[in-house]
Amino acid sequence: MIKQSTKTRKSSKAKSVTIIARYFIKRNGHVVYRVRSSNGVDTYCTTIINGQATGCTCPAVKPCYHMTQLEKIECERAERIAAQSEQANEKKLAERKLEESYRELAQAQLEWAEHWAPLLGITVDALLAMGIGEYRPLIEAYEDGRNRYNNMALALGW
Ligand SMILES: [Zn+2]
Repeated sequence: MIKQSTKTRKSSKAKSVTIIARYFIKRNGHVVYRVRSSNGVDTYCTTIINGQATGCTCPAVKPCYHMTQLEKIECERAERIAAQSEQANEKKLAERKLEESYRELAQAQLEWAEHWAPLLGITVDALLAMGIGEYRPLIEAYEDGRNRYNNMALALGW
């Protein structure tokens, strides 16, 4: 980003800030940029407090181009970080939802097995271990038997 602006603006009158380092002061949350002077030799310090450039050690009239450009750079940086953390939060939320739906599915499967296992005369674990091709005929046979019983009961007026 910085490289690009240096390239595109060098020929024009507007100077482009050259960052040497960025320091975050943990104690107060201030940000200090160490920048290279346009003469390529000196270095200056530009201070950013709460996203606003408050000072620069260069001799230019304030606000200097270090202040205006670094304020913008710092703002873009904050936006980028905010977007990244939002993305991370969304990912976490999606993972939690997925985990929840797996748990619900497992619970539903267990309830289903607990309902059917005694009717089919097998254990819950045995039913859960079965594939659909194995348990479907058992359930169909059960339902067939139950339907026949119901029809018979109906016919006999029970
Ligand atoms: Zn300056």
